[in-house]
Amino acid sequence: MTRIFSGIKPTGHLTLGNYLGALRQWVESDQHRAEAIFCVVDLHALTVDHDPARVRRLSRQAATLMLAAGLDPALCTLFVQSHVDEHTRLSYLLECTASDGEMRRMIQYKEKSVRERETGGSVRLSLLTYPVLMAADILAYGADEVPVGDDQAQHVELTRDLAVRFNQRYGQTFTVPRAVLPPVAARVMDLQDPTSKMGKSHAETSGIVYLLDEPDVVRRKVMRAVTDSGAEVAYDRAAKPGVTNLLELLAACTGKEPGELAAGYSSYGALKKDTADAVVELLRPVRERHAELCADPAYVDGVLRDGARRARELARPTVDAAYRAIGL
Ligand code: ADP
Repeated sequence: MTRIFSGIKPTGHLTLGNYLGALRQWVESDQHRAEAIFCVVDLHALTVDHDPARVRRLSRQAATLMLAAGLDPALCTLFVQSHVDEHTRLSYLLECTASDGEMRRMIQYKEKSVRERETGGSVRLSLLTYPVLMAADILAYGADEVPVGDDQAQHVELTRDLAVRFNQRYGQTFTVPRAVLPPVAARVMDLQDPTSKMGKSHAETSGIVYLLDEPDVVRRKVMRAVTDSGAEVAYDRAAKPGVTNLLELLAACTGKEPGELAAGYSSYGALKKDTADAVVELLRPVRERHAELCADPAYVDGVLRDGARRARELARPTVDAAYRAIGL
């Protein structure tokens, strides 16, 4: 059976980008068609300036939201990365397989390290090596497929390179995985800056829709989305990034084609209103289920404990084999 691994980083509240670019596929498709393993990758949240209590709180919230969105512990494995030591054990071996030049070429490292320096911070070494830990996350489980938004495609490419290299040097140990991008909304853009992706942020900005935003907040954010000075609703990413992002959001919510949707609108206002309504309806059941789960913390604890136990069982044979293969 196909094995799938994917994760979400608890560096902030989960966004509409996380939902449409990742979580929804995990729920609607992946957990039904494959042996699926999903992880709150909390170790990755330590690669940038972090507050310990906040990371713990956000990890819990992310896991709860993943359940609220519809991940079913009877169908998939859900756990928190730091509960399973195999990830860091394997990461070290992969660090001994990767080169520093390879790491410095990663687009996310370049972008995030510039941002850290600009804001006066120092760049943590773990920010540079984070793709190696991500490779360990994937390879430990022998995953065949890694469903990700296209911002993560380069890291999955690196994971493949490391797996192939390790196998060539030390003998067949790892399955070589491939990235699987969602058909629509592979990249949900920021509503205020539609040329950059909607990503978790410390700052409260109206460009980012969070899964737990109240309906009136969602509406306000979508209605204020940046478009352009024109008036024609057209699906054209280069010339009309804001309008295109709205059309893609509406398409992702309704299952229609963005190009066809464009033909039905003669004003930006009407497009925004329908998009706002569609996003509110999309998120409503997730928010409601999240509130129910928050009232039952013992249930969430149990799911994460069982998930970690199962993840350890799955990962240990491969990681042990890698230790033997590399000479330990
Ligand atoms: P973030 O950038 O929000 O910190 P994560 O690294 O936690 O995201 O990624 C979790 C998943 O959500 C990944 O598969 C990633 O590709 C996807 N994702 C994150 N932001 C977006 C976005 N704006 N559009 C589409 N997918 C996204």
